[in-house]
Amino acid sequence: MKDFNFKKSLGQNFLIDDNIKKKIVESANIEEDSLIIEVGPGNGALTKMLVNFNVPVIAFEIDERLKEELLNINASNLEVVFCNFLDVDLRMFLSKYKYKKIHLIANLPYYITTPIINKVMKETEVNEMIIMVQKEVGDRFKALPNSKDYNSLSVFLQYYFDISKVTLVSRNSFVPKPNVDSIVVKFVRKEELLDVKNLDMFFKFVKDSFKQKRKNLRNNLRNYDLDKIDVLLKNIGKDLTYRAEQLTLEDFVYIVNNLL
Ligand code: SAM
Repeated sequence: MKDFNFKKSLGQNFLIDDNIKKKIVESANIEEDSLIIEVGPGNGALTKMLVNFNVPVIAFEIDERLKEELLNINASNLEVVFCNFLDVDLRMFLSKYKYKKIHLIANLPYYITTPIINKVMKETEVNEMIIMVQKEVGDRFKALPNSKDYNSLSVFLQYYFDISKVTLVSRNSFVPKPNVDSIVVKFVRKEELLDVKNLDMFFKFVKDSFKQKRKNLRNNLRNYDLDKIDVLLKNIGKDLTYRAEQLTLEDFVYIVNNLL
């Protein structure tokens, strides 16, 4: 990669730490009928290891200057696509492949971390995601109630996935060295999801509850039937003076299901 002019605007920080690459790849639970999606393969640091699983690997890279590096990876199970991942019709793309399990394994471009996750969740039934993200963002994904990082995104993601840390990654593991530290986080789709009567309403309620983080539920939920919510909260030993960060995923499900 000598003389490569890294673009900050594309989140180009390439992983140079073999130990971290190994940890990412080894934490994946790939099976015969798996398919791997990689977003932002860069110069192929992870891609070259992912193809060794011998399952289809589709890598989406926006920067055509990386064509030579990526197209030189000699693997018949690899398809490299040069495009903006956010513009891809993933369902259409995947329709030509045979697979049962989908894995997103990637050192993500940080400026679009959440849009990428949202897209993959919306357009596929992704089973596992092993992704490198900015440390603070990863802390929010896996945050538990009563911690400062717990927010509506934590509840949303934890509804679908068990989320755990694979490893912390120092900024020295990249070229060029970024201004932030990173974390590799693993998401595994839950086999059984909690029974939510109306998902749209559930996620809206969670979002509204966290609208102003410092405010309590009474303030954030003014547009709802507060009397009813108060009764439901009291049933679980809480009340409207609590803040959203004090409610568990199960608490939210209980309240919303009984508000209907
Ligand atoms: N996977 C490589 C590694 O670990 O060294 C590179 C990771 S780098 C953090 C992020 C990569 O995402 C860059 O190669 C960048 O060009 C690419 N990228 C940025 N925006 C993208 C987008 N919208 N669609 C696809 N790739 C994108």
